[in-house]
Amino acid sequence: MTDTNSLPAAGIMTIPGHDEPLPVPRPTLVDGVTPRADGRTDLIGLPKKRIAELFEDAGLDAKAAKLRAKQVYHWLYHRGMTEFEAMTDIAKTMRPWLAERFVIGRPEIVEAQHSSDGTRKWLLRTADNHDFEMVFIPDADRGTLCVSSQVGCTLNCRFCHTGTMRLVRNLTVGEIVGQVMLARDALGEWPKSASDTRLATMAGLDEDEEEGSYSADGRLLTNIVMMGMGEPLYNFDNVRDALKLVMDGDGLALSRRRITLSTSGVIPQIERCGKEISVNLAVSLHAVTKQVRDEIVPINKKYGIEELLQALADYPGASNARRITFEYVMLKDKNDSDEDARELVRLLKKYKLPAKVNLIPFNPWPGAAYECSTPDRIRSFSNIVFEAGISAPVRTPRGRDIDAACGQLKTSAKKMSRAEIDRLYAEKDKDAEAEIAAPAP
Ligand code: SAH
Ligand code: SF4
Repeated sequence: MTDTNSLPAAGIMTIPGHDEPLPVPRPTLVDGVTPRADGRTDLIGLPKKRIAELFEDAGLDAKAAKLRAKQVYHWLYHRGMTEFEAMTDIAKTMRPWLAERFVIGRPEIVEAQHSSDGTRKWLLRTADNHDFEMVFIPDADRGTLCVSSQVGCTLNCRFCHTGTMRLVRNLTVGEIVGQVMLARDALGEWPKSASDTRLATMAGLDEDEEEGSYSADGRLLTNIVMMGMGEPLYNFDNVRDALKLVMDGDGLALSRRRITLSTSGVIPQIERCGKEISVNLAVSLHAVTKQVRDEIVPINKKYGIEELLQALADYPGASNARRITFEYVMLKDKNDSDEDARELVRLLKKYKLPAKVNLIPFNPWPGAAYECSTPDRIRSFSNIVFEAGISAPVRTPRGRDIDAACGQLKTSAKKMSRAEIDRLYAEKDKDAEAEIAAPAP
């Protein structure tokens, strides 16, 4: 067995480097929490109700468990505390009792890099030793954290470096929300006391921000985009639960209006995303004809352009005030003609989509088969879309010197040759075709 995608959650896995696959027990995820060698349970990623259940299982009576869970939840997610000892409203004798049974984890930081343009990238590691990346992009008026949802990706968009990795596994709720918490740690942005929180809330509230506390209060981290490694709608349950903790006013308290989920177009999950978390949506369109999109975003063979646009027209919450972002990577002589731009306008108008188009200059990586369009071509494309009344800014690549720009994330140390990349794509395409051929569950 070589394909980790096909492994059951609690099956066996192979150890890279061994000629013969060596069966080793795969850790069983309890509550979606990666088990720890010391037997304690990591609370990060768990909702209040589950924390209360665990406290009750550990011996507290129901009422005490509920009260303690409420207090601990606030310390964990709202105040960013990592030690039970510092939880001042919990009895002194209770704190070691908690520490014996539970931990407050963070993904391990393997490496932190700082770009000359201020962008930061962290290489992170899960408790079972899988590496993934997180990027922070500061701007004049906002700071955006680019969060990963999977280690690797099942999809293989041809211009994306992550697409040259197999899916290793989905990130857990704790590993997803843990990225935001780690960023708050690194930026020193946890509220220090209840009165700080109140002040932040007062300073940050505007009429758009019903749940959120932090916006105009001078914080660096103001926005979250699910645009790191992986396809968030193929790990939707965990992404949803993590974002619920991020949006909860008693949790990380970031408004859903400041959260954007980017998808390559997994249609069945788009509706759930709207109904269950209603965050902003970004869609990786990248091409306007079946032929080109099938080639560069192969999930198009399963979920086509027109079907995708209809699902977006139905997305709850989409309006002129909350437009859907269409991401369009500019690939030389592939998808960048004036005719492509006009077809893009036609499609967006046909479905009456409240849209804005983000034109992303292609970020190169070793072995990529494409080149970036010329600045003149990008300008001409942008003008056509803009003149049709649709905003079409060209995104400035950020963090290119530390490989932190869009689509450059890939943690595997091994460099791949063009031939190896082609072989891998052929295998991933075969897996995808098998999936398309399989009857729907
Ligand atoms: N899987 C999700 C989110 C992660 S990718 C998705 O595909 O939407 C975030 C964005 O970066 C996507 O729009 C993706 O298509 C784009 N991207 C990927 N590789 C890129 C590259 N090399 N240059 C520019 N943009 C790229
Ligand atoms: Fe996966 Fe998104 Fe990259 Fe496509 S662009 S391979 S969906 S991470």
